[in-house]
Amino acid sequence: MAEKIKRCFRLMRLFALGEAVRYAVFSLLSALSVPLAALLTERCVNAVAGAGEGEAGFWGPFAALSAVLFLSVLIGHFLRVSDISLTEALQKGCTPKIIDKLNRMDYAYFDSASAADVLECVSRDPAQSLARLYKTLIRCAALAVRIFSLSLLYFRLSAAFGTALCVLMAAEIVIGIFSNRQFSRLYGEELPRERKLACLGDLLTQKGPVFDLKLNRSAGYVKEMQNRLADSVLRERVRISLKAERWYLAGLILMTAWTAALLCALIGRRLAGMLELGTFCTLLGSCPLLTQVQAELSYYLSSMGKDWFVVRALEELSGFREVCGSEEDADARPEIVFSHVSFRYPGTERFVLRDVSFTLSPGETLALAGANGSGKSTVIKLLCGLYEPTEGAVTVGGVSASGLSPAGRSRLFSAVFQDFLTYNVTVAENVGLGDVRNLFCEEKIREALKKSEMDGLADSLPMGLQTPLGHLDEGGVELSGGQRQHLAIARACMSDAWFYLLDEPTAAVDPVAESRLYRSFASVIRGKGAVLVSHRLASAAIADTILVLDGGRIAQRGTHARLMERGGLYREMFEKQSSWYRGEEQAGEA
Ligand code: ADP
Repeated sequence: MAEKIKRCFRLMRLFALGEAVRYAVFSLLSALSVPLAALLTERCVNAVAGAGEGEAGFWGPFAALSAVLFLSVLIGHFLRVSDISLTEALQKGCTPKIIDKLNRMDYAYFDSASAADVLECVSRDPAQSLARLYKTLIRCAALAVRIFSLSLLYFRLSAAFGTALCVLMAAEIVIGIFSNRQFSRLYGEELPRERKLACLGDLLTQKGPVFDLKLNRSAGYVKEMQNRLADSVLRERVRISLKAERWYLAGLILMTAWTAALLCALIGRRLAGMLELGTFCTLLGSCPLLTQVQAELSYYLSSMGKDWFVVRALEELSGFREVCGSEEDADARPEIVFSHVSFRYPGTERFVLRDVSFTLSPGETLALAGANGSGKSTVIKLLCGLYEPTEGAVTVGGVSASGLSPAGRSRLFSAVFQDFLTYNVTVAENVGLGDVRNLFCEEKIREALKKSEMDGLADSLPMGLQTPLGHLDEGGVELSGGQRQHLAIARACMSDAWFYLLDEPTAAVDPVAESRLYRSFASVIRGKGAVLVSHRLASAAIADTILVLDGGRIAQRGTHARLMERGGLYREMFEKQSSWYRGEEQAGEA
């Protein structure tokens, strides 16, 4: 527990030191104001009860009590304000740092099962969790201060009452820490199941999967899976909650017994004239306060379980290895060199690329062909520097691809991937994001749209280039899969990079539009290099060199004409595809 608390405070020092200190100071002042007010109330009652004994100092306790009450109102106000600014400071300090870290860290962590929990935790509003945890810790400290300063009042009655109260409250804290540990362990075990639950929840609520499930009438099955998983998570949570509740009840019973004994002692002493009225009222009046504090303490201590994980995840994330961009710049006219590259994904044993070598200079086009799973996209990922090769080297202009600085990388590559097509922002932003320097340059955006055969799009939309995509904004529109791919290509056309990396950029485009697109794309990449992955081999024919991958190895290499002439895997695939299209055409004619 001490280590966890240290972790939390370390993060607070990093993200919001001033606000954290302010919050702690006001919380402690607010906690001290309660016993102080109780003590002054006692003096006031005693002063009133003994009013006839002389006027000197009569108003003192009243003035002091009024001042304490007024100060406690002010402290309460400042505490609430510092609570708000603490949350705000954490949101501003923590969230951008996490995003920066995710951008800088080794991409391989996204594939690692052991990093999955950390990434899951930091994706769930960690600033809120950190703020909640810190505030809960401070509240617990403030409650402890309040309890022990109140118990000092009871020491005046008898050491036995004061000691018994201290022991009871200490036991409450120990029980709270114990159930907190149990909840923490439970949440640790639950994380993977919660990830699965979130995935199933997405399946049942997101537009695309809902349509699929509806069509296949399989929503019931997925719902059943979700219910079963949710039940198993809930069962354990209920078991531990009930156990904590039993301990809490035992604490309450002991507290009630203590209160009953206190009542007897108070009444007995008062009747025997051994207790002033003010002390009697204060000690009696503080009992409900103690029960309330006990309940709050128990609640706060057991409610921190989940947030510990977020704090641990934030610390672990900060330790994830970063890939620092090299200061070294790529050559003026860079060349891509794959030198005997073999690769297996982190955490896996199987090599998905074996001894792959090729070079590519600006002005040349390389197409990667091969069956699904043969390693084409992996070549693109290594080129982008997302992973380091297991063996061999990938360099661009003499610099290791994984060591390129972000600026250097964007000068070298412009990419279109099939699975990141469009964002829910305006059409102009969707295209302009290809070159943020020209994000608002309408002329360049229109030019890029023209290059991707989409020049008519803006005019056909209700707000032209400013039309938002998706339904996050009022008036947003949905584009077809093919239109979105054209738009993603337009985004790539904004860039003036040395190489265009196109990984299945036209999978959703019809064959006629595809061939038109590649023809106009030929003018975009003139003088530049391009690496092209396409299932439709007709588009590979425009490349200067085609690499045919088979099980991660280069099975064939050459121009379209040479490969067709030589026969083998490429010609086989090409002829199969052509006969398929011819068959489609004939079926269409018939
Ligand atoms: P292609 O683009 O030719 O269809 P990929 O390069 O995407 O093939 O995949 C090559 C192999 O690598 C496949 O067997 C695939 O299962 C595996 N693979 C792809 N991505 C990962 C990953 N993140 N982790 C582990 N294996 C992966």
